[in-house]
Amino acid sequence: MAKTLPVKRIGIFGSTGSIGTQALDVIRANKHMFSAEVLTAQSNDELLVKQALEFNPNIVVIGEEKKYNKVKAALANTDIKVFCGEKALEDVASMDVYDMMLAAIVGFAGLRPTLNAINAGKAVGLANKETLVVAGDIVMQLAVEKRVPIIPVDSEHSAIFQCLVGETLNRIEKVILTASGGPFLGKKPNFLVNVKRDHALQHPNWSMGAKISIDSATLMNKGLEMIEAKWLFNLEPDQVQVVVHPQSIIHSMVQFEDGSIKAQMGLPDMKLPIQYAMAFPQRIPNNFPRYDFKKPGQLTFEEPDTKTFRNLALATDALYKGGNVPCVLNAANEIAVFAFLRNRIGFLDMTDLIERTMNQVPFVAKPTLEEYFESDAEARNFAASIIKL
Ligand code: NAD
Ligand code: MG
Repeated sequence: MAKTLPVKRIGIFGSTGSIGTQALDVIRANKHMFSAEVLTAQSNDELLVKQALEFNPNIVVIGEEKKYNKVKAALANTDIKVFCGEKALEDVASMDVYDMMLAAIVGFAGLRPTLNAINAGKAVGLANKETLVVAGDIVMQLAVEKRVPIIPVDSEHSAIFQCLVGETLNRIEKVILTASGGPFLGKKPNFLVNVKRDHALQHPNWSMGAKISIDSATLMNKGLEMIEAKWLFNLEPDQVQVVVHPQSIIHSMVQFEDGSIKAQMGLPDMKLPIQYAMAFPQRIPNNFPRYDFKKPGQLTFEEPDTKTFRNLALATDALYKGGNVPCVLNAANEIAVFAFLRNRIGFLDMTDLIERTMNQVPFVAKPTLEEYFESDAEARNFAASIIKL
């Protein structure tokens, strides 16, 4: 008889977001394999409470402290522990109430909880790419020291990870990240200059949180993913290539030293990489729709237009320069996207703001964690001061 594995206790950090809610869909469908023991949200207290009542976790954390009383009252008739604030989020990440972190917080805010989880020996399913963009060297080094797996959830990196299963002895020649091109594929600056928030939020193939949707529209997302790939798979910058593939069926590829290329394919659905990361090395059966090769349709590929989508060029520059440059790029981008989402700056202004900030913050070749935090703060302050946020 097949041995049943113990239920894996998942901590979903960022449970109310696009990735977080889909992770809960996976858990709901596979209760024999997973339980949700930590749920966290920044501000959506109502959804957090609803999730807690359904999944009965050990702990919930609400980021916004003013919402603590409301959450506490709503869960008063349960055994669920309720905490609030940034410090609690970081502390809970180290607690022995869960086995695997699903790192689904957006942005720099995910860095410290993820580091704490690794330090405490937790496996990490990593959606929060900014963690690796900011401090990939420190995060990966700590994971090696603590012998914990970092399993990518980002679809491109999950694809590469899946292509690498069984290839431990073989060197990667390069990885090829596919990009959908976002909602403005083929557009030029004279169009982009007038683009507004609501249009930029409409992604053709994926439904995602607001920040990554804007990053996909500017191609910054692909730039962040190049840096993420470098750290996850221990690559040199010139081993990371991007190709635009508008249908999002090939999720990424690995080319080996014999010229062989492996691709991982499927319909675009984030639940697949989420469940792959959570169940690795097992695959969980499901009845999601399958890609059908017999249906008419083409898979096409083209070069990214980095002259129009200059964020990708800036991120490539950061990838090659290394040090604190990716951290500065990320911080400036977070401010730029925040301002664009509030209609404070235009679509193309985001790139100018990031470029000016990258030119402003002094280079640090091998930053400590504290220096990464300093570079992040300096970049945020400078970018915010330029646009008078
Ligand atoms: P989202 O905005 O939908 O959700 C973000 C989650 O993080 C929410 O639960 C929110 O409460 C929490 N959060 C936000 N700010 C926080 C803060 N300051 N402190 C603590 N918690 C905070 O975002 P998402 O689309 O689910 O993306 C999450 C991460 O996954 C991002 O890093 C994104 O790049 C990555 N990712 C997302 C997708 C996708 O399809 N959505 C795909 C690949 C990678
Ligand atoms: Mg991706």
